[in-house]
Parts: sequence; C-alpha cells; structure tokens
Amino acid sequence: MQMVSEWRATLTYPLTLSRVLERMIRYWGHVDVVTRRPDRSLHRTTYADLYRRAHALARALTRLGIRPGDRVATLCWNHSMHMECYLGIPITGAILHTLNLRLHPSDLAYIVNHAEDRFLIVDDVLLPLFEQFKQEVRLERVFVIPFSGESVPEPYESYEELVKGPFEPFPYPDLPEDTPAMMCYTSGTTGRPKGALYSHRAMVLAAMATMLADTFAVSRRDTILAVVPMFHVAGWVLPFSAPLAGARLVLPGPHLDPESVLELISSEGATFSGGVPTVWLGILDALERSPEKYPLRRELRVAVGGSAPPESLLRRMKRAGIRLIHGWGMTEVLIGIQSHLKPYMETWPEEQQVAMQLKQGMPVPLLEARIVGPEGEVPPDDRTMGELQVRGPWVAGSYFRGEAPEAWTPDGWFRTGDVAVWDAEGFIKIVDRTKDLIKSGGEWISSVDLENALMTYPKVKEAAVIAVPHPKWMERPLAVVVPREGETVTEEELREYLRPKFAKWWLPDAFVFTKEIPKTSTGKLAKLVLREQFKDWKWPES
Ligand code: AMP
Repeated sequence: MQMVSEWRATLTYPLTLSRVLERMIRYWGHVDVVTRRPDRSLHRTTYADLYRRAHALARALTRLGIRPGDRVATLCWNHSMHMECYLGIPITGAILHTLNLRLHPSDLAYIVNHAEDRFLIVDDVLLPLFEQFKQEVRLERVFVIPFSGESVPEPYESYEELVKGPFEPFPYPDLPEDTPAMMCYTSGTTGRPKGALYSHRAMVLAAMATMLADTFAVSRRDTILAVVPMFHVAGWVLPFSAPLAGARLVLPGPHLDPESVLELISSEGATFSGGVPTVWLGILDALERSPEKYPLRRELRVAVGGSAPPESLLRRMKRAGIRLIHGWGMTEVLIGIQSHLKPYMETWPEEQQVAMQLKQGMPVPLLEARIVGPEGEVPPDDRTMGELQVRGPWVAGSYFRGEAPEAWTPDGWFRTGDVAVWDAEGFIKIVDRTKDLIKSGGEWISSVDLENALMTYPKVKEAAVIAVPHPKWMERPLAVVVPREGETVTEEELREYLRPKFAKWWLPDAFVFTKEIPKTSTGKLAKLVLREQFKDWKWPES
C-alpha cells in the first residue's frame, strides 16, 4: 500500500512578488499605464516598460548595497515611477516603505528614523516637504524623481540614473514567501505611529483576493483609476492586482480635485475606482453639476471605504448609475470586510437593501472575523457590541520592531480597535471605535496629541478633543477646554498656539469653553459622554 507521506498533493513554490512581475511581462506587456503629471499632461507607458525599469531599479539598488530586510522609502504621489518602486524594491528582498505625504514633517522624521530607512526616493514636487525634515533624518542616499519634467536640482541624485541603460534582467534572489515586502506606518491605534509589515505571500494573496467576483472583481477587462494614495494601505493592493490581472492602470498624480479625477475617469473610460467617502462626495457634486461633461462607463463600480459612507452617498451613486462597493479595511488588514448583498436580498424593499449596504458586511474569502465582548464572542443579534477582531493570510502579523504586541490576541487574532455588532445574515456593522482618534477625509488625527498640546498652554486647565460627525470630512476635531481659574482664553489664541506644532488640517475646527469635563469612574476624560453631547453639532457651511 502507498504511504500517504509519499504523496505530494501540490508542487509549491514561494508566493513572492516576482510571480506578479513574470505574469505581467509574459501576458500584459502591451497594457498601458497612464499618469497625470504635475503640469496636467498625460504620460503613457506600458507594463513592458515598467518591467524593464523595475528590473533596472532592482539591479541598481542591489549594486548600491541594499540587502534583504533593508528599508527603501518612497515619498511620492500615484504615478508610474511609484509603480516601478512597488515592483522593483520588494523583489530585491528589501522592504518598500511608503511615506504618507499628508503628515507633519516632524512625524515624517520620526517615522523615517524609526524605520531606519537607508534610501529615499522622492518626487521633485515633494522636495519642499522633504526639506522640512531633511536635517532630522539619517538617510544614506536620496534619489529624486523628475516628476515635473524639470531636471533634478543640485545636490540631489536623479532617480533616472538608477533605471536608465540597456535592459538586463535582475536575477531574482530565492526569497522565502514570508519575507517582508512592504511597510506602511499607521496611527490607527493609540501611541506613536507603528509600521505594519506585509510579507510577499500576504501581498500576492491579497492581490488575488481583490480579483474575486465577490470582492473588487479586478480583471483584464478593467481600467482602474487608483485614487487611493499608494502610501495608504498599499494603495488597497491595486498596484499588485492590476498587473496580476492585466488591468489598465490610470494614476492621477497630484491632481486629486474632484473635477480632475472625474475628467480622467471619463476620458480614460475607467471601470473601477475607489476612495474614501470625502473624495467621492466631491466627485458626485461635480458630476451632478454637469453630467453631460463626464460620460461614464456603464460598468463603472467604485469601492468606498476608510470611513463609513453616509446614506446620501449610496443613494447619489445609485442615481448616477455607479455601482458602489462599500468596504472596511485597515492598514494592518489590507482588504477586509465588504457589504455585497446576498442574491436574495436583491428582492428586498429598497430601504432594507440600503440598510444592509451601509453595514460593513462580511469578511472577504479567507479572512475571518469575530466580535468579542467581555463574555466572549457576541451573538449575531445586531445589538450586542464587542471588539472586531480579524485574522487571515494577509493580516499583518506584527508591527516593525515587534512593537505593541498586545494588538494581537494570544490566539493570533488582530484587535482592530473598532467596536461592532453583527446580525443573523453575518453582516458586521461598525458602531464605534476604542481608538482615541479622529478620521478626517480618510486621514487620522490624534486627539491625544492635540489634548496634550492644549494642556501645555499656561491658561488651560484641562482639554478634551473629540471626533464630531461632519458632512464633508466625515469627522472633524472639536476641542472642549476648561480655562484655569481667573483666566479667559480665546479660540484664536489656542489656534495660534497649536499652529506650528501640527499640520493645518489637524487644528480643531471648533473650541468650546466649559467649567468641567466629565470623567469616567477611573478618572479618565469621558469622551463617550462628550461625543454624545456634541453629536448634532452644526458646523458652519464649508
Ligand atoms: P486605516 O488603517 O487608516 O486604513 O484605518 C482603518 C480604520 O478606519 C478602521 O479600523 C476603521 O476605524 C475605519 N474604517 C475603515 N473603513 C471603514 C468603513 N467602511 N466604515 C467605518 N469605518 C471604517
């Protein structure tokens, strides 16, 4: 009798990103990648060219001494050269570390130093940002992408020097599939920003997951307009799923105003796009103003996530004939939960369908989710709340340097910091978050950092900063301030005090002065009580 151990069920090889590059060159070399440049002109290239340049980049980085495990950072908009970094850096075994260009320079300095990035690749148009923290960081080399078309200013080295010359293939090293491929920092939990690490295997499987019919259904028939910044959550993995699937890729560069994005969706015939609700609310405004100006493809579907979309967004998308895919994701989780209806729900009354789509939905295949309360997993009764925890093949297994291990349960589930309920259909609904953060237009603001800064102001006794719902930004910060006895403080002086310390969009939009801030039984600021108190706050028209 044959021994079971003599059988090999499958002949496996490591799931590394070189597989994506090889499929891309073998089948999709002719497919184009379009970038809108800073001067608004369109630059067109192909996957074949991207392949050549990514290989050249990998060769150059290796020649310059980049070794497996080293970090190479990018500070870039969405464009084809950033795609080359996505493809060319991880195949060397090094870690592509995308930097968020919306952060304050002091946060960027902290992150670059914490990650010990060796090299940085930066857009020439972002040099003014880099120069604000350049003196504070230890980088060995800085390469500048001449994205604007101008020559690279002295004394910087040009990125083009790395990728020019006749094509010579880069010999892929044998990398185990759990080699880290990418890292994105997140403030999506409390404390200092932390680096979420993704392995090659995680990226390949997440890219596969985006190609499923019941997720984003990315395919060779798609033209993807990638609005989600490539520095966020690996650009929702689209930089890998597009070349794997053979989809055309359209990259908006720095032009993210609604008219520019809409114009590109229309002129390039996009069939798939995605982004945070704020971006899509703006796009819908522009579309509704002049629908005849922007004919859209009938197949257009749009993934919206990063914050809960308001009901109006769902209805307006429907009216515009755009299919909305509502999804929940996280830097640590990549692709997560989506609210595709089950077929029988499509016969339900409209109101009920809308209610289901507004929930975050069900985990995508191979991702597992559970909601845990003080008594263990909560029942699917749509009202018992608990913490949402997830696990799966592409969920980050640790933060860089092993920080904050408590974000994972002892049995390997990632604690999301989101509070949720679930129903008998298996649909999850996010109802709150335990993280003391504000999400404005898809970007995090730390309420604790703002509070700490406010409390260093001599005339302030106590301060709490809370997230208050906002029609355009989804949430904005509101500061509740208790002045010291006998002192009067004004909104203007507090704003002036905070201004140099934070990015402009972090500053609270409103300050409310009070005699006392409610406290919890353990003496902490009772943010829940405050949030409830200010939930119907009327912001001035923006
Ligand atoms: P980030 O790591 O910046 O992508 O932020 C992830 C967090 O954004 C989640 O933990 C949620 O708090 C929030 N989030 C993402 N998608 C949604 C959604 N569809 N609805 C509600 N909150 C969301």
